[in-house]
Amino acid sequence: MVLFDIDKTLLKSARGHHLSFSEAFKKVFEVDADIDMIEHDGMTDQQIITEILKKNGIAEEEIKSRMAYCTAVMVDYFNEVVKDEKIIILDGVPELLEELEKNNILIGLLTGNLEPIARAKLVKVGLNDYFKLGGFGSDDMSRAELVKIAMVRAKDKFNFNGSVFLVGDTPKDMEAGKAAGVKNIGVATGKYSMDQLKDAGANFVIPNLKNKEEFLNIIR
Ligand SMILES: [Mg+2]
Repeated sequence: MVLFDIDKTLLKSARGHHLSFSEAFKKVFEVDADIDMIEHDGMTDQQIITEILKKNGIAEEEIKSRMAYCTAVMVDYFNEVVKDEKIIILDGVPELLEELEKNNILIGLLTGNLEPIARAKLVKVGLNDYFKLGGFGSDDMSRAELVKIAMVRAKDKFNFNGSVFLVGDTPKDMEAGKAAGVKNIGVATGKYSMDQLKDAGANFVIPNLKNKEEFLNIIR
């Protein structure tokens, strides 16, 4: 099974997702904030919400008690704006997914995005049907937990018990994969270099997802 991160691994980040945080901060907490005030690449959506609001003086209990409302506002906002979003698929991604499917490899998602936002992005670019399961930012705060959740789903739904590869563009992806005991493939299509991904625990590193033969060789 191969689990893919979404932002900067499969797709260029969607602006509407970024803005959905600001919308929810304002509506739910009366806070004016942009998520770029922290280094958020690789963080789960619920982690980003918590960090930003804490920096803006909101108590953790209050954040927790309104988390469900906050994420609901984000999803509503994103569903509204996604029709006008220009979401760009990174080079080689459709070809690689097609090749993995042809080889009967189970394909999933491992993303900090809330599931409805993750799915809406992929529906928009026509790739959603490749991903049979996943671990999402709506499932847990911790990325390592998301990997475990995806593995349980693979077992329950597909009786899958084989090797798991996690593909991501940030050190946080690699740390999560390592903590969950899966093999990491670092892809340097985000902010981080192949060396940085290796240092963070990548078992394999590639510059992008364009070379499907190289990718298949890794998982073989
Ligand atoms: Mg990413």
